[in-house]
Parts: sequence; structure tokens; C-alpha cells
Amino acid sequence: MNSYHFYHNELQRLRDHHIYREMRTIESLDGAVTVIDGKEIIQFASNNYLGFATHPRLIAASIAATRDFGTGSGGSRLITGNFRLHEQLEKKIATFKGTEKALLFSSGYLANVGAVSALLDEGDVIFSDELNHASIIDGCRLSKAKTVIYKHLQTNDLEEKMRKFSGRKKLIVTDGVFSMDGDIAPLPEITRLAKKYDAMVMVDDAHATGVIGKGTAEYYGLENKVDLTIGTLSKAIGTEGGFAAGSETLIDYLKNKSRPFIFQTSLSPGVIAAASEAFRLLEEEPHHVKKLLNNAAFVRNELVRMGFKVIEGNTPIVAVLIGEEEKALLFAEKLYECGIYAPAIRTPTVPKGKSRIRITLMATHQQEQIDHLLNAFLHAGKELGVLPSFASSLTG
Ligand code: PMP
Repeated sequence: MNSYHFYHNELQRLRDHHIYREMRTIESLDGAVTVIDGKEIIQFASNNYLGFATHPRLIAASIAATRDFGTGSGGSRLITGNFRLHEQLEKKIATFKGTEKALLFSSGYLANVGAVSALLDEGDVIFSDELNHASIIDGCRLSKAKTVIYKHLQTNDLEEKMRKFSGRKKLIVTDGVFSMDGDIAPLPEITRLAKKYDAMVMVDDAHATGVIGKGTAEYYGLENKVDLTIGTLSKAIGTEGGFAAGSETLIDYLKNKSRPFIFQTSLSPGVIAAASEAFRLLEEEPHHVKKLLNNAAFVRNELVRMGFKVIEGNTPIVAVLIGEEEKALLFAEKLYECGIYAPAIRTPTVPKGKSRIRITLMATHQQEQIDHLLNAFLHAGKELGVLPSFASSLTG
């Protein structure tokens, strides 16, 4: 068998198992409404939580910076790509997160990979929640440290493992808000264990920054108990890029040792200026976050009232348990027929029999759009036997 046969056969295997990945082509975008393959669809799956990606102030800032500095930065930060704009944004992020310093990366993915792989090494030990994001997992692999996986959110299991495994340096790493379940890491207990067992704590705030306020540490009032916060500029901030925020020592260390930071061209001026404007907006206009959380709470409460099983949480990621994989896929198809995009999440991403529909709310969702979502859920729920047929509708 030559190499190409291998790839061909593997692709066929993915198709046979219905796990071959396809992309949807978005032709236009107006708030939460997109046109996909000629059909108008309301997105309930976007990470553009606050609608900032199309906010006039971000667009204006991006255009102005592009006009002044060009479309690309032309170099890595340590050579010719360090503009005043990058430094100003890092100061803003550090102030926002309440840390001494911050450092930009080209994406949240690379911030996780770059931080974990630089800070930990052979002989060290990492304690990682089993549902942590792929970029944390990849960072752990690259670091060569021993990685010990603890059960999702279960600090008893974490403590048992911290008692058992020791290393030169120790790190507990967790998503702040988990991307598939929308639940929040138990930071009070995690930071207590970190102190007890002399470990550092790193939190990935990709789905928390500008979502549950400033982030997970602020949510719990534990700002000075987290050693390193990772974030992305691609979700609530509405642009792209990632960052690490923490003490001067850790950030200076990353600046000197983290390969994704050292060897990548820095983010373009337009992206940086738009992200700075987003942080300004977050400070000046708290109503965006409030609206986002109100939309999420409303949808959660209504779905529970209808009789759906919703994973508990206070975040805009609302995971509705459907059960079997085929049913979840059919459910998502029914929603799509009603003009709603909320994907089915199935194995291997979630355990077998726990397939779900994952809804993501935005601050810019209109009430009619939310009502449409809920009515579509009610109808699909009754039709597919997820709900009893007498469940009552939101709008009568
Ligand atoms: N962490 C988490 C929890 C994420 O969900 C994501 C994005 N899917 C990332 C990190 C990576 O962020 P970015 O898209 O900026 O690379």
C-alpha cells in the first residue's frame, strides 16, 4: 500500500462512520443572520459573543490602523514586528486581567501550546482536567512533562492525584468556562489545592473573557490566586489572536522561551487596533455583557421549563442533552430546517449516549430570534420524543 492509499482509505473510513468533516460556506452576515448555501440561517453557534466582530467602532479602528501601518506587521515581535500598538494592547490586557504583564500570541491555540510547552519540562508534572481544550492537551504533549488527567471538575480526584504524583515543578491547568458543557471550573478549590501542594495554576479564559465578566478569576474574586491566564481575542473580543497574562517573571520567561511567540510574525496592526477598541468598549459599555448573560439565562430557564435536560451553568454556552447520537443529529437537522444553526455534539467529543445540542447565545440576538429558537426546540423535542407531547410552548 502506498502512502496515498493510506490517506484515501482513512478518508473513506471517516465517511463510512459519518465522522468526515465538512465546512459550511457563509455567503453573507448580518448580525446573527447568515446566508449559507442560499438559505437564511440564524446562528446559535458563534463565538462572537458580544457581536463585536461587526461593531462599527472596531471596524473603524481596524481601518485607521491598516491605513497608518499597513496590512501586515512584517516580522516577529523580537525582530521588526513590535509596534507601539502591540505594547499598548498588552498593557490594556494586563490592566483588564489585573496582572503585572501580558503577552500576545497569534491565536488562543498557540498561547496555550506556547505557555504550557515553555513553562513545563521533563521531570515536571501537569494536572489537567479531562475536558480541557485540544490546545492545552497539545501543549502538555510538547512539554514532555508527565501529564495526569483528573476527572472533569472533580477536585477530590485532583487532590488524590496531587498526593500521588510529584515533580520538580507542578501545574494545574483548566479551562475557565468549558467549551462543550458551558460549566465553570471550581477555581476556589483548585487554587486551595495549588497552595497546599505548591503548584501553579493556569486558566484558559477563551470562553470567559468578556463573557462572564472579565474572566473566571474575577468571577470568583480570586484574581491574585491564578498564576497564568490564557485568553483569545477571537471570541468576545471579536478579532483574532491570543494572550497570556500573569506575573512579570512568567511573562518575561515566555517572551524568551516560548517558541510560538518567538518564531511567529506578530499580529497585523488592524487586528491589534480593533482588539484595543474592544477592551475600551468593554470598560465603557457594560451593557453588552449584561445583555449576553440575560439572553443566556432566559434561554436556559425556558428550555428547563419545557422539560429539556440542560447542563447547569451561568454561561452563554447552553448544552441540551438529547441522548443517542442519531437523535441529536436529527434534532440539529430539524433546527436547521427551521432556519437555526445549533450543532449536535457527539462522540468522541462527548461520552456515548450523552450527545447534545450546543447553543451559543450572543448579546446581539433579538428577542424574536430567541423565541424562534425556543419554538423550534419545542417542536423538534416533541417530534423526536425528547419531550412529552403535551409540553407547552413559549409563545402559545
Ligand atoms: N481554548 C478554548 C477553550 C477554545 O474553545 C479555543 C477556540 N476554540 C481556543 C482555546 C483557541 O483559541 P483561538 O481560536 O484563538 O485559537
